[in-house]
Amino acid sequence: MKDIAIETRDLVKHFPIKLGFFQTLRTKEAPKVHAVDGVSLRIKKGEILGLVGESGCGKTTTGKVLVGLLEPTGGQVFFGGTDLASLPDKEMRKLRRKIQIIFQDPYESLDPRMSVYDIVAEPVRIQKVVKSEREVGEKVRKALEEFDLVPPEEYMYRFPHELSGGQRQRVSIARSFVLDPEFLVADEPVSMLDASIRSEVLKLLLTMQKKLHTSFLYITHDIALARHMCNRIAVMYLGKVVEQGLTEDVIHKPLHPYTDALIAAVPVPDPTARRIRVTIQGEVPSAINPPPGCRFSTRCPHVMEICRKKEPPLIEVAENRQVACHLHTKK
Ligand code: SF4
Repeated sequence: MKDIAIETRDLVKHFPIKLGFFQTLRTKEAPKVHAVDGVSLRIKKGEILGLVGESGCGKTTTGKVLVGLLEPTGGQVFFGGTDLASLPDKEMRKLRRKIQIIFQDPYESLDPRMSVYDIVAEPVRIQKVVKSEREVGEKVRKALEEFDLVPPEEYMYRFPHELSGGQRQRVSIARSFVLDPEFLVADEPVSMLDASIRSEVLKLLLTMQKKLHTSFLYITHDIALARHMCNRIAVMYLGKVVEQGLTEDVIHKPLHPYTDALIAAVPVPDPTARRIRVTIQGEVPSAINPPPGCRFSTRCPHVMEICRKKEPPLIEVAENRQVACHLHTKK
């Protein structure tokens, strides 16, 4: 257990829906969005776990609960073996410096009224990790240099609107790394950047991750990108993890029909290459009223009678390999 950085056990996050007066009179139980419904994940120290799935499957909510931006409705989060719910506020504030998040949108995540210097310096000042403003400045300079914003003096006094999208995201990442975090959630950090600068930003992220041995939860809808970035992959569908395993095992031998479909949707460079996998049709069902039984049953090409009645549990099918599908549990 010593090598585990962060762990969730049966994590649940539901969002109640506000009803009008007459709807309240007609409804026995207030409806809720089942954003995360019993997710158990383990991320080792220095490991990158990819959380993959279509938008609306609960990836971002999981990430926000892990960094403490949302309170879970149920379940537990352990950081370094400590249950976060058991920590007093003061301890929790101290721990915040070790856990950071990079958001998807560099345009929204930076305060437009703050200079780059103040944006990167803010966590250092809040956490009071150094004694003087001179030391704050040194930390800011180092963080900007590490993310290729050089020379730092050229960027420090600019405001977010004076930067390109790629530069903004590098400022945002520099801010997340300025306190040398032990665990970081990267929520689609390059999906809003031009293709030309994506690989540059990803390379910087990987370099820093290796240097600091940071554990990552890398959230993405792009399984090909997850393959490039992650040691292990967890596939999420409608609030549940449906498959987990080492990256190459999941990519080369997907066990869940949903994972199979995600892989089939990745463009193949060779147009003559044969692809026999089936692609999924339709939209993800509503998370307010998920289908009974297997949540993927409304779209699954292999659906059986049992799938609509009984929810398949996430079971260990081999070392480091879990899947939730009746194709693997019915025997
Ligand atoms: Fe498809 Fe049934 Fe497996 Fe769900 S449990 S993924 S519906 S085969």
